[in-house]
Amino acid sequence: MMKRFAVAVVLCLSALTLPVAAQESPAAAPAKPEVHTRELQAAMTPSKALEELKAGNARFVSNATKRRDWSAKVVATASGQFPFAAVLGCMDSRVPVEIVFDQGIGDIFGVRVAGNVVNDDELGSLEYAVKVGTTLIVVLGHTSCGAVKGALDDVQLGNLTGLLAKIHPAVEAARCGNSKDDVCVTKVAEKNVLQSMKEIHERSPYLAKYLDDGKVALVGGMYDVATGKVTFLEH
Ligand SMILES: [Zn+2]
Repeated sequence: MMKRFAVAVVLCLSALTLPVAAQESPAAAPAKPEVHTRELQAAMTPSKALEELKAGNARFVSNATKRRDWSAKVVATASGQFPFAAVLGCMDSRVPVEIVFDQGIGDIFGVRVAGNVVNDDELGSLEYAVKVGTTLIVVLGHTSCGAVKGALDDVQLGNLTGLLAKIHPAVEAARCGNSKDDVCVTKVAEKNVLQSMKEIHERSPYLAKYLDDGKVALVGGMYDVATGKVTFLEH
């Protein structure tokens, strides 16, 4: 509330100090914050959404991310949100999905859990995302994933044991077992992305219908913690 109030005060003061002619000039008009509106979301196809994420990651990799007026975005999105994509990613602190895809407030849904594994609550979250107009779901794994290494090492730790068990099918599919081997860890992480995609399709009849109709796309990607680059998986 304080931030909104502060923004409102700044806008009022700047309006008061501008000459009338300047207020009418397009060049002097306050920049409209770039946010995803209902119209923009409705025009977004799955392929356009994917292109937008690819372009955002390219900006991130080249250190050319958009400059954003965050306070203006908070105000502009206060009355509603129209995100164009949902990302199921790992909780790893090096893979914040909004940042690596250079997205702002109100642009994408972020669902994050160690090892980007699938459970009922996440499926419900993704179903909500699609219900409100999202046309793309991305499962994003990453290199050097601690959850994958934990699954490879068969770590037993409280509730984490059950979470890591969800990664075991990927360990078996990758046919390698050394958590110190980066190639193996990446291979398991990729298989785990494919496993999560399979589960999303199989365990959510609601999402499956949209996916089968082509109204929503489901893609997998791998984020490289050494380069910042996301490589989308062919499957
Ligand atoms: Zn991870």
